[in-house]
Amino acid sequence: MESATAVSTAEESIEVLDPATGAVIENVPIDSPENVAETVQRVRANQPEWEAVGIEGRYHWLGKLRDWLLDNQERVLDTMQRETGKVRADAENEPGYLADLINFYGSRAAGFIGEESVRPHSPLLAAKKLRIQYRPYPVVGIISPWNFPLILSLGDAIPALQAGCAVVIKPSEFTPLGLAEVVEAWKQELGGPDVFDCVHGVGETGGALVDEVDFVQFTGSDRTGRKVMARAADTLTPVSLELGGKDPMIVLSDADVDRAANAAAWGGMMNAGQICLSVERIYVEEPAYDEFINKLATEVGRLRQGVDDASNPKDVGAMTSPNQAAIVEEHVSDALAAGARALTGGKRAERPGDYFEPTVLVDVDHSMKVMRDETFGPVVGVMKVRDAEEAVRLANDSRYGLGGSVFGERERAEQVARRVECGAVNVNDVLINYFAMDVPMGGWKQSGIGTRHGEGGIKKYCRSESLVITRFGGKREPTWYPYTRTRRRLLAPISRFFNARDWRRRLGLER
Ligand code: NAD
Repeated sequence: MESATAVSTAEESIEVLDPATGAVIENVPIDSPENVAETVQRVRANQPEWEAVGIEGRYHWLGKLRDWLLDNQERVLDTMQRETGKVRADAENEPGYLADLINFYGSRAAGFIGEESVRPHSPLLAAKKLRIQYRPYPVVGIISPWNFPLILSLGDAIPALQAGCAVVIKPSEFTPLGLAEVVEAWKQELGGPDVFDCVHGVGETGGALVDEVDFVQFTGSDRTGRKVMARAADTLTPVSLELGGKDPMIVLSDADVDRAANAAAWGGMMNAGQICLSVERIYVEEPAYDEFINKLATEVGRLRQGVDDASNPKDVGAMTSPNQAAIVEEHVSDALAAGARALTGGKRAERPGDYFEPTVLVDVDHSMKVMRDETFGPVVGVMKVRDAEEAVRLANDSRYGLGGSVFGERERAEQVARRVECGAVNVNDVLINYFAMDVPMGGWKQSGIGTRHGEGGIKKYCRSESLVITRFGGKREPTWYPYTRTRRRLLAPISRFFNARDWRRRLGLER
């Protein structure tokens, strides 16, 4: 989406708005491409020292950041809640996840990126010692979206910093304030090494960052992801892209329908549906359909929407960007005009700020935008299907392939889950795979390239250097010059002896 239409940019600053009221919170100066280059140059100069500190030394610093996040969470949550319009319960997911992530990578980094010793596969290499060492990309640039301003920026910075990289983040222009507070704390309150910073702005600042860094971690729309990848191609800079989704949920006839309906309500409406892994489309086997949609509509219909505080909690917050509210409205009106019915919701909420009513649509099909394109709002479309076969076919009928979920008797649901074409599938749960950081999370098809979490989530920030070390040897190897007749007579039979898999060929006997 075009940033300029969503955030009014004064001459050289971004106006950050409170989506719940439309009020201006703060003007943040935009970093020019020159500022971006200077910032990257500065942290690049300090990166070798950061790398030399070692895995334990870096965990020590990240541990200080973890403690700061836990000690100051109310302050950070206040800022983040204001710039996103989230309800408190949704915002509260962020500090806990980040603390867990710091501990996860801090305690496992040695196993994931420590030097590896490898046994040679062939006796011909017996005189060699094989090692792999993992060296960090000097500077990683992170470009992040607005839906989880810390998880999707700091959450990628943590494994990169733990790997020994310096990191510069460009947060979304809609939500730069919470992250800026954390970076400021790293620098001023914690006195952390000068290898971690952020720059602010819209697409131009993001593009400048791509030009300067050695690895790009991008999270955002597939549209911007393509631009980032094209720009990175100029400098042959590797990218990891975490893009959009249109996640399907399949409800089988033997599902616990109460659990499935409650999960669909939460998985579709949490964070006002502004999650890449939100449940956006649901396929229900015929025998369970009526009961499921009644329960889902009841559960969604009673969700409380608005600005909350400790004494008056709400369930669903605002749309963080005005552009997104317009997309959600377009998808819902397109579906209603083509014959869909809203069992609950179906329009913008009548209150100040950018709110869309939690919405359940039925009588939808794949000709409608709401079942094809990423809605990224508090809307689910539900279709009745004949059987699991049809559910799988429809679930896979998408250009996206980020996540999904299947509800049903455990073994049957697991078999169906294995056939869904996406990076992660939850069986009898939703969204939980994001917190199961032991396993990779990344998209198939147009949902991305690369993964975060697990071993790969830190290894991707490193380049492997293979060391082939000669333990003993004479003045020359038999394969080197001179190419004599004796050499020929010896080497070919030796190679044949070790590579053949039957004795006749090993010994070079006639057929
Ligand atoms: P977006 O693509 O509009 O913007 C993302 C970031 O890219 C912002 O910081 C923006 O300023 C920057 N940007 C814009 N143009 C750029 C350019 N030409 N070069 C470099 N940077 C540029 O996305 P958004 O609206 O902020 O976020 C919503 C999208 O993010 C949704 O599609 C959602 O599914 C996706 N998302 C994906 C994941 C995931 O892990 N797969 C997680 C959250 C969100």
